Amino acid sequence: GNSVLSSYGTTIFEVMSRLADQHKAVNLGQGFPDGNGPPDIVAAAADYLASGWNQYPPMPGLPALRQAVAAHGRRFYGLDIDWATETMVACGATEVLAACLFGLLEPGDEVVLFQPLYDSYVPLIRRAGAVPRFVSLKAPDWSFSAADLDAVFSERTKLVLINNPQNPAGKVWTRAELELLAGRVIAHDAIALCDEVYEHLVFDGRPHIPLMTLPGMRERTLRIGSAGKTFSLTGWKVGYLTAPPHLLAPVMKAHQFLTFTTAPNLQHAVALGLSKDDGYFTGLASDMQARRDRLSAGLSAVGLAVLPCAGTYFLAVDLQASGIDMADQDFCRLLTERVGVAAIPFSAFYEADAPTHLARFCFCKRDEILDEAIARLIRGR
Ligand code: PMP
Ligand code: GLN
Repeated sequence: GNSVLSSYGTTIFEVMSRLADQHKAVNLGQGFPDGNGPPDIVAAAADYLASGWNQYPPMPGLPALRQAVAAHGRRFYGLDIDWATETMVACGATEVLAACLFGLLEPGDEVVLFQPLYDSYVPLIRRAGAVPRFVSLKAPDWSFSAADLDAVFSERTKLVLINNPQNPAGKVWTRAELELLAGRVIAHDAIALCDEVYEHLVFDGRPHIPLMTLPGMRERTLRIGSAGKTFSLTGWKVGYLTAPPHLLAPVMKAHQFLTFTTAPNLQHAVALGLSKDDGYFTGLASDMQARRDRLSAGLSAVGLAVLPCAGTYFLAVDLQASGIDMADQDFCRLLTERVGVAAIPFSAFYEADAPTHLARFCFCKRDEILDEAIARLIRGR
């Protein structure tokens, strides 16, 4: 009796970060910024801690943060959200995802997903007894067709899980793509779970369009955000969910038995963050866009073929197109051990039919760090 999870190894992010530590490599693998986050938010967290916010907050989250989540949704997307019945706070987007999948899925339900995908989705879906059905997006623009959707939707489709902007592809979904998907979700009376942790990391003036804002989707969509990504504080693990009451209720049932609640000082500090003025959010995106351009230029200069990247912390390199005849896993290991630069093999983001000619590089690092990585790549060429 092996469990569903015993077939999985250790998550690739942990594996590559430990390998990077061991070889003192510049870690462009696991996605985390090397700055310290906005000083006022960090100071607020310390103040709340020192002034006694150290006991269990309410299970759904502190009202201050839930109100801030609702106000943020209204400000950026025009969403009308009742904070008291339509928001929830949990330990990172990771726990929100687990609570949603465990709260909403029954054994035998089918879930439509798009590859490449974030590595926690499928193990959670399988653990819930549900069945994943995959659409493989086609590089370089990571597109899909109506026929691709028809091949995976069935009368058992319960839920569709999308990640927009998408890790690791750097894809930002277009309105046309969202409309195509929304049509199928509505036709199958399914629900949509949208992992939008990179909502404020969209580049080149593109808009981020939540699927929740499309006609007919408000009442069947759950939308996830993360303070880790929006405030460059990945270690805090504060995630939040917006969903209509009938979908939020079952998710809350799962959340109460997973973690029950999240550190109160961090919740207060994140509430403050979400009410920052618009300049903070546009500044975050333009700052990250400059880092993308710096790493992209450096990688191109050493002869690596960089795929277009419209958002997130990540860009992809095409090994085949770079004249590198090596599988992604071997390439990433060798690069970490011999060249001193860690990256993530793209095949880790697939459950089936994985390509082996792509590697993911993270650019949410200081200029010196990106430059050091490029210098090592030049020396190791
Ligand atoms: N979803 C995606 C697509 C991610 O890349 C990540 C991790 N960074 C998460 C969810 C988890 O977010 P958190 O750290 O808030 O748990
Ligand atoms: N989301 C981060 C990434 O894709 C890693 C999160 C984790 O380590 N679980 O790199």
